Amino acid sequence: MDIAKPQHFTARVSEKYYLTENERFLLVKFELVKPDRISFLAGQYVSLLVNEKGERRSYSIASTPDENHGFQLLAEMVEKGAGSEFLRNIEIGASVELVAPLGKFVVSEETRSKLLFVATGSGIVPIWSMINDLLINKQEKRQIRLHWGVAREEDIFWFDNLERLAEAHPNFVFDLVLSKPSEDWTLCRGHVQDCLQRDFADTGLAGWEGYLCGGVKMVEETSKVLTELKMDPTKIHNEKFV
Ligand SMILES: Cc1cc2nc3c(=O)[nH]c(=O)nc-3n(C[C@H](O)[C@H](O)[C@H](O)COP(=O)(O)OP(=O)(O)OC[C@H]3O[C@@H](n4cnc5c(N)ncnc54)[C@H](O)[C@@H]3O)c2cc1C
Repeated sequence: MDIAKPQHFTARVSEKYYLTENERFLLVKFELVKPDRISFLAGQYVSLLVNEKGERRSYSIASTPDENHGFQLLAEMVEKGAGSEFLRNIEIGASVELVAPLGKFVVSEETRSKLLFVATGSGIVPIWSMINDLLINKQEKRQIRLHWGVAREEDIFWFDNLERLAEAHPNFVFDLVLSKPSEDWTLCRGHVQDCLQRDFADTGLAGWEGYLCGGVKMVEETSKVLTELKMDPTKIHNEKFV
């Protein structure tokens, strides 16, 4: 697997909009200016310069590698966060400086194991790129499962896209898990690790490879659960959003 060397890029904001009505998740699209093409693997991230103090924030690339004249980022808005404020206020046409591609959280080409993706909140971003790349660009036929946890119904985005992917690709199944759902929620409630325990209690996870992305606590607790469910620990990969 060839991982391209990180480079400095200048890019321009071409579009931005919130994916949820509560304005918690913001999608920002960029066109590359210089260099005008990027080579990356699904799951990698960029380091974005977010203010004049020289502070940087990491954001996973939400788009897929075939879109190489630009890229998309999805940021969870954190109150008074430097990265959040930068992306919230940036105008269409503005220039940004970044270093990319970074990271090794990419789908291994060494095994043909079934693939289990687990994300919480904006941890879906690199996994979204990976799953789209696998199903659409690579026509992957292996079984692919996704467990994605958010707090409430109003934090869910990309639901229609996930449904369309699952309809078009019968080997892909996704489960949404809400930690603070309304009374009407009939699907899994609690933490992703609780639902994984429930869903795979009978079959176990030997023969599966895991890709986990989200906060440190979720990644650590889920790794433990997957190991208990007999997933080979060397096949558990993660990206922690710190
Ligand atoms: C490899 C990597 C990839 C990442 N990819 C993404 C991505 O695709 N999308 C994305 O949204 N984030 C991503 N992150 C996290 C991102 O880099 C920032 O850390 C995060 O968005 C907060 O940045 P900020 O500058 O807005 O807030 P900061 O200025 O860093 O923090 C402001 C305050 O908010 C608190 N805080 C920070 N994060 C949270 C949170 N999630 N919930 C509650 N309080 C918080 C901090 O402790 C601090 O008190 C990634 C992180 C890594 C390491």
